[in-house]
Amino acid sequence: MGYHSNMNKDLIQSNITKVLEQVSTSAEKYGRSKEEILLLAVSKTQPLEAVKAAYACGLRDFGENYLQEALEKIEGSEGLDIRWHFIGPLQANKTRQVARHFDWVHSIDRSKLLLRLNEQRPLDRGPLQVCIQVNISGEESKAGIDPAELPELLAEAAALPNLRLRGLMAIPAPATDFGAQKNACDALARLFHSHRESYPAMDTLSIGMSADMQAAIAAGSNLLRIGTAIFGPRTQLRRG
Ligand SMILES: *Cc1c(COP(=O)(O)O)cnc(C)c1O
Repeated sequence: MGYHSNMNKDLIQSNITKVLEQVSTSAEKYGRSKEEILLLAVSKTQPLEAVKAAYACGLRDFGENYLQEALEKIEGSEGLDIRWHFIGPLQANKTRQVARHFDWVHSIDRSKLLLRLNEQRPLDRGPLQVCIQVNISGEESKAGIDPAELPELLAEAAALPNLRLRGLMAIPAPATDFGAQKNACDALARLFHSHRESYPAMDTLSIGMSADMQAAIAAGSNLLRIGTAIFGPRTQLRRG
């Protein structure tokens, strides 16, 4: 890493400043309060050093997609006051480690994952915070549960003692124009509001990435998952 590290640190700092300004501007434009919008820094493929740089700028929530890579960073940042969010596709054989080491999971789309996470959550860590991932883009996306099957999965999540149902998450099909982005985010927001009548403890609408954060804020998102706009483009893809 050598001399790159300082350069990245400054860049990350100025990127975070820009993102927070955009959040603030959009919040004002759409009648939202910026304090109710959490910025989750998506650090997948980024080194531990980048996490620490963002932490030094005040960020406390970090999102990871690949378990092995995440575990290295979680271990390397021990002692820091970080909430780790698992946001990537989750395989059943990875749930034990996720239940042990993460604070949140956003990408739950089937009953088996709920049951395993509930069973495997260490009691001394308190309940695992969970969002259900919904497929709002139909055939364009394979990730997430069909909205028609949501009631059953929410009922199951809400009943499990070692999980706390916090809300809904979606990754819309990529779109470049604001209108299409807003429609997708609105679709998730409508589901969120209608199901919240049954589960009033749900407080998290996890939608919005670097390319559609304005539309997500307009639609009511209160948890933005931002990678590229904070850390720059992802150059390497590490899996595990
Ligand atoms: C990578 C990723 C993000 C961040 O995407 P950017 O476009 O880099 O901001 C957000 N959410 C999920 C689920 C991701 O996998």
